[in-house]
Amino acid sequence: MPAVGESRSLYVHVPFCLSRCSYCDFHSSVPNPQALEAASEAWLAAIRVHLDTLGRRFGRTGYGTVYLGGGSPSCLPRGTLSRTLSLIGAEARAGGSDPVEFTMEANPEDVDATLLDTLVQAGVDRLSIGVQSLEDDARTIAGRRGDALSTMRNLERIAGSWGGRWSADLMYGLPGQSVEGLARDVENIADFGLGHLSLYELTLEEGTPLSKSAASGGVRIPGDDERGDQYDAAREILARTGFKRYEVSNWAIPGQECIHNDVYWNMGDWLAVGPSGVANVAASCGSFLRLENTADDALYLDDPAASCSESIVAGKDAAFECLMTALRRTKGFDLAIFKQRFGLEAATVFGRLEEGYPDLVCLEGDSWRATDRGLDTLNGPLLSALSSAERFYAESAPSKGGPPR
Ligand code: SF4
Repeated sequence: MPAVGESRSLYVHVPFCLSRCSYCDFHSSVPNPQALEAASEAWLAAIRVHLDTLGRRFGRTGYGTVYLGGGSPSCLPRGTLSRTLSLIGAEARAGGSDPVEFTMEANPEDVDATLLDTLVQAGVDRLSIGVQSLEDDARTIAGRRGDALSTMRNLERIAGSWGGRWSADLMYGLPGQSVEGLARDVENIADFGLGHLSLYELTLEEGTPLSKSAASGGVRIPGDDERGDQYDAAREILARTGFKRYEVSNWAIPGQECIHNDVYWNMGDWLAVGPSGVANVAASCGSFLRLENTADDALYLDDPAASCSESIVAGKDAAFECLMTALRRTKGFDLAIFKQRFGLEAATVFGRLEEGYPDLVCLEGDSWRATDRGLDTLNGPLLSALSSAERFYAESAPSKGGPPR
């Protein structure tokens, strides 16, 4: 949870990809190359208007961190990408200082010397590279662009010529992935000398081609034991090569943790432009203003700010979101900051999690921290905390005077 006066962050959603991955339910479309030129220009015009509207409403004070994600930002036509970067760079620096972190997601297949040069000129200082797997069977089933060999060559190019920080995304539990293959992927990627790695377990999202194919028996999803073995193999190599797990799915060489994502886990303030982007701004008494951009591209392009819905997340929902996101990190959930924000003792709202789940949550100093095992299985403590918060807020409903402050 942020200190008063801490700067705001910015998320920019690029709603285009060059192909769809079979497991993915993120918002993006796949225009053909001619259509992409026009569609990306229209998108850029819309985010320009949206940034201007947000600046007038919340103040044009710059952004502490910027994250350009999607979709595939690196698939934007190069001219559009340059103008996008210069627009959001100028917004980020409007307060007079550079952002402390400026990340762009990129598909390794799109990365060449010209792209890297464009990013450096624009002030991008961190790359997040979607690798997912270096096993060809898994890549084919996942629908990833490029084969393992070309992905490795592109990673070599990044390692050899990118001077900023960079991260790779890997998945486990993909059909076609093996324990040995994932271990080799982690070794190979760690050898490139990058400072951050995100390791996500496959989730079968409803309606995706992969979930349909798994349901019909067309592909075999690795079982729990196999996934566990894959994760253990990856974890052992990451620990041996100097990476520390600092969040459920994120590992970094100390000092290379993602600053932007910590704003999310901290329930800090961030704005979002681009279809389907979601923003969060602190309101009174621990509540948040939540702004959700429409995922309907046509509506967004027509009037970005008007197509965005707003709600206040308050009471139990706000308190529980703070707990749920903070407990994902090894630095945990700060009880004093919770009290400052909500005027309540966390144990009064959520119960004494360290007593109910001593092997999963511990009390260290003034924070609840998930243990190593807890980071793998937070469901128990979170469900218990949610029931306790529901009871607490129901019993202190407005007719009874509201939650004590
Ligand atoms: S490139 Fe990324 S956003 Fe696009 S379909 Fe694949 S996983 Fe989803």
